Amino acid sequence: MIDSTMTNKKTDIFQQSSDILCAYIDQHQMHHTAERMVILQAICRLQSFTVDELRKELTELNISRATVYNTLVLLEKAEIIHRLDKEFGVRATQYELIMAMESSVQVICARCGRVSKIKDTTIHRMLADKKWTNFVPDHFSLYVYGQCKKCRRKINKL
Ligand SMILES: [Zn+2]
Repeated sequence: MIDSTMTNKKTDIFQQSSDILCAYIDQHQMHHTAERMVILQAICRLQSFTVDELRKELTELNISRATVYNTLVLLEKAEIIHRLDKEFGVRATQYELIMAMESSVQVICARCGRVSKIKDTTIHRMLADKKWTNFVPDHFSLYVYGQCKKCRRKINKL
């Protein structure tokens, strides 16, 4: 169940994301390049990533560091990816593919940068029950910063 639906969903996400990107490129009279599409494809596979993780995914292709960075800026402007604020000294900037963002609560270790998702139905229910004015909510994202178990242990040892 997981495999086939996941693959279809990812293909879908790439299709939709590339449509948004092409529209943005046309609108801003920029050039369509194969590199951008390859990078976007890698991003759709990863969904949540740091620049290093993305570059690792692209190692076999000859894509320069500058192209990767420029594409990330472009994808952010086109609202395809979202950059997590590098708050509280989180190690590396984390990016998220907006289309793949499900309503989630993410727990981020402010010391080592480890990101994990937790299921929390309380917040889901709270937002679902809320009466919204002039707004239809679609999904939400909540980041909770703190210290992971490993880092807590290290701190306690000091
Ligand atoms: Zn940690």
